[in-house]
Amino acid sequence: MNKLKSYLVNLCRALLAITFIFSGFVKSIDPLGTQYKIGDYLEALGLAGQIPDWIQLLASVTLSGIEFVLGVLILLAIRRRMVSKITLVFMIFMTGVTLWLTIGNPIQDCGCFGDALHLSNAQTFGKNVVLLIAAFIVMRWPLYQVRFISKTNQWIATYFTIIFILVASALSLYHLPIFDFRPYFIGQNIQKGMEMPPGAKETQYKTTFICVKDGVQKEFDENNYPYDDSTWVFQDTKQEIIEQGYEPPIHDFSITDAKTGQDLTQDILSKKGYTFLLVSPHLEMAEVKNFGDINSIYDYAKANGYGFYGLTASTERGINHWRNATGAKYPFYTTDGTTLKTMIRSNPGLLLLYKGTIINKWGHNDLPTPEELNAPLSLLSIGHEPENNTWLKILMIVLCYILPLILLIVADRIWAWTKWVKKKEEWVKEKEQSNKLYQLLKHKRQMRKKIVAGNWKMNETLQEGVALAKEINEVLKADKPNCDVIICTPFIHLASVAQVLDKNLVGLGAENCADKEKGAYTGEVSAAMVKSTGAEYVILGHSERRQYYGETAEILKEKVLLALANGLKVIFCCGETLEEREANKQNEVVKAELVNSVFNLTEDEWKNIIIAYEPIWAIGTGKTATSDQAEEMLAYIRSIIAEKYGKEIAEETSILYGGSCKASNAPELFSKPNIDGGLIGGASLKAADFKGIIDAWKK
Ligand code: PEP
Repeated sequence: MNKLKSYLVNLCRALLAITFIFSGFVKSIDPLGTQYKIGDYLEALGLAGQIPDWIQLLASVTLSGIEFVLGVLILLAIRRRMVSKITLVFMIFMTGVTLWLTIGNPIQDCGCFGDALHLSNAQTFGKNVVLLIAAFIVMRWPLYQVRFISKTNQWIATYFTIIFILVASALSLYHLPIFDFRPYFIGQNIQKGMEMPPGAKETQYKTTFICVKDGVQKEFDENNYPYDDSTWVFQDTKQEIIEQGYEPPIHDFSITDAKTGQDLTQDILSKKGYTFLLVSPHLEMAEVKNFGDINSIYDYAKANGYGFYGLTASTERGINHWRNATGAKYPFYTTDGTTLKTMIRSNPGLLLLYKGTIINKWGHNDLPTPEELNAPLSLLSIGHEPENNTWLKILMIVLCYILPLILLIVADRIWAWTKWVKKKEEWVKEKEQSNKLYQLLKHKRQMRKKIVAGNWKMNETLQEGVALAKEINEVLKADKPNCDVIICTPFIHLASVAQVLDKNLVGLGAENCADKEKGAYTGEVSAAMVKSTGAEYVILGHSERRQYYGETAEILKEKVLLALANGLKVIFCCGETLEEREANKQNEVVKAELVNSVFNLTEDEWKNIIIAYEPIWAIGTGKTATSDQAEEMLAYIRSIIAEKYGKEIAEETSILYGGSCKASNAPELFSKPNIDGGLIGGASLKAADFKGIIDAWKK
């Protein structure tokens, strides 16, 4: 579906681009022609003579240029969203204008394609409806337009196009249009251009006569005209085309002597030799600066026996104005103003005819100089019809505009491609690096010790304890664990239990030790004494000791230091109360416990620390923290360890979860990436339950 949309959008976009480029270009290279067409529109709107010529010319250059630039922007998909909106607005306006032309017929030819292509008003309207639909489709999905040039370099193509079309317009205005699409092109025989091919049908008109009698207006045709009734007074005629016949390319050319009314068309067109025609639709507005050249061309023509006539639509006053301004001695005859504007886009302009065929044309800025006219025309190159140089002109446009634009696009594509390749390389590198980091972290996690530690608390007599230890030892001997197993017993069990445990299978730890080294502390057991039983671990900071025996952060700090100093590994507990969690203070509380009791340790000392997070509300209550809650807290603890000791040490630290951990919930808890095992209370008092939890590491 998306592919189909993309095809449709790009097809519509191509249609719009080609039309806009073509119509914009042919009008831009004929700025005067477009200005005349604007004049026709103003006349149809009743605004004739109200807008100065220079504004019309400016509008002609601007509008045609905008159309061309818009076409190129659509073609290259530059500023896709904005351009598609402008195009739609443009097409809505143009379709409205051509609908008006089709209904009202105020102008015969809309002038959409200048003189390059003539369409009837109905055809133009049909064309615009199609383009309007295309513009709507492109506007609806502008981003489906395939880009030919990257965003960064679009401005180069845009400015280059604007400069190109303005220069093309200026050159066409200063000289003559680059391409001549009118019927008075070089090589055209005017007489032949007026001929009807044999058998061609002439256009059929219907003439209606409007007469008035007693204030009543009535229309008559040739058949019922009241020739015999003189009370009907003739007022006006109307002419309608009944059937369009063949229209010769030149159908409105005539030369008349205004003074005598004599038609000189045939005389002039059938002259055997050369004839110069100085063409000026309005002599009052003609450029006078090159009159010297014109006069010398006239003198040259006279001296060589060539004809030289001025053709104008101006009245006697205008002719006299010109004569006074330039000293012109050549005769002036009358030709229709529109015909003269069609003959040459220059006021004045010069045509050279040979036997009625146009063999050369000059704008007033390019008239042949007296130095050039140094021999009879038959001996000069200007006296011969030049070779058709249309292909040369096309080649020039290709070299000056299309080729640089293509090179720009190619360079841009290469640039964009290298950028893309570089980005891809960087992306691959980044991915590799993050993969490496991920592998490292995974490795570290695999390397990190997985631990299941039991905390018997104040349970079991000496005999019961030894029996339980023996049983655990046996069970694990029979089925080797996948993790480190530790049992932490009351002091009185330590020495005896140490005797029954296989050190390689089960580690032994105490549940507490004194905060003093030794001496008169009745009832206390020092870290050194614990170590001497064969125990390797000690639980410190358990919430029950903090709660019931008033162990503060300061006391725990001392205990930790003494335990480490005596070669014990510390399982340091931390965790929040229910109220603290409900107040969302768990992170704050846990951080304070660690900061105040163990974050004073050196990196070396830290290597003998195991952290056990035990939310107080989950200890012995049967209420486990969810695996997500536990994971979230353990990840947080690892992050603050990383802040303190660095990422590597944090990754190596084993962090356990404790609180109603059982064989049933251990697998889920231990599956979390930051949970390295559990500190088990109640469930460590039965070998089978304890083993069930240990086996969670096998799943
Ligand atoms: C404990 O006291 O360390 C503990 C985790 O207890 P229980 O497993 O019984 O909740």
